Amino acid sequence: MNDGPRLAFRLPAMIIVLRPHTTPQQIDHIVERIVQLGLKPHISHGEQRTIIGVIGDERKLQAEPLLAIPGVEQVLPILKPFKLASREFRPQDMIVHVGPVAIGGGSLAIIAGPCAVEGYESLDQIAGEVKKAGANILRGGAFKPRTSPYSFQGMGEAGLQILREVGDKHGMPVVTEVMDPRQVPLVDRYADMFQIGARNMQNFDLLREVGQTKRPVLLKRGMSATVRDLLMSAEYILAEGNQQVVLCERGVRSFEDSTRNMLDLSAVPNVKGQSPLPIIVDPSHATGRPDLIPAMARAAVAAGADGIHVEVHNCPEKALSDGPQALLPQQFQELMDDIRRLADVLGKTIP
Ligand code: PEP
Ligand code: MN
Repeated sequence: MNDGPRLAFRLPAMIIVLRPHTTPQQIDHIVERIVQLGLKPHISHGEQRTIIGVIGDERKLQAEPLLAIPGVEQVLPILKPFKLASREFRPQDMIVHVGPVAIGGGSLAIIAGPCAVEGYESLDQIAGEVKKAGANILRGGAFKPRTSPYSFQGMGEAGLQILREVGDKHGMPVVTEVMDPRQVPLVDRYADMFQIGARNMQNFDLLREVGQTKRPVLLKRGMSATVRDLLMSAEYILAEGNQQVVLCERGVRSFEDSTRNMLDLSAVPNVKGQSPLPIIVDPSHATGRPDLIPAMARAAVAAGADGIHVEVHNCPEKALSDGPQALLPQQFQELMDDIRRLADVLGKTIP
């Protein structure tokens, strides 16, 4: 666990906007000055101009006549409460790599699998089906956050082993939920990507802990969290040094009781306007209904999502968790036929 000084308390951020046609030598010089001040630069070369995001001690920045350096046009504070997760800091879309699969920048993650790992054979069968249909990342929970303490809680480490084995067999990277900071080293040994579930989106110690690893993180929106809350939680991970964060819209609680949650698809373009982080959509937990999942998955991709996250089970009636919302492999296959056509129209690729 991280007991050291908490970086986030002292993380002001500025952006240095360079003049058009600044030479590479001038940029090198500016970067050198920033590093000399003990600050961390992040360069983004845009079509029009280059900007340098800087994080570190604001006093150091203010004391320095940065504007006097040749090539510097403006020095601006980032006013948003999230800094590293903001578009101001990093104008270009970020791409997160999960094994060989790129997420973002026009590349779609298709994450599919059962809610929980229930055994080798069933997972092997489901993985074969979703892979054949076009999924590129296998999901399955080994630690399950259940509303009732009497419900199936997941297979634990045995489940992680199965997930790893099956993922390797089918050549798919795997994502699985980590619920507690103490589980991070264990899950890190087996998974290609950590999932932080809706119920843990504001478990700040957990966010810091995964932030200290090099593993990509799938951060799900809390069921009563605003888009800003979600971005602030991402900021916790980024502030610890891990830049590999993918957000996930999975519906929020509302008065509507005919669906499990209310899918906020506007969160996709809303996030994209404010942040370069990839965002995917989970229509399974959002709607809880197989009759609605395909339409919402298509709508998500049309809205600009960087992927989808769908629960699939070969025998939903026997599933140990979330059976009623699982798509059958055949339904998932049909959905993927649509998603491929949509991806074509939108100029996106499915790695
Ligand atoms: C899940 O992915 O199985 C899950 C529990 O999701 P959420 O955290 O979005 O409820
Ligand atoms: Mn589930």
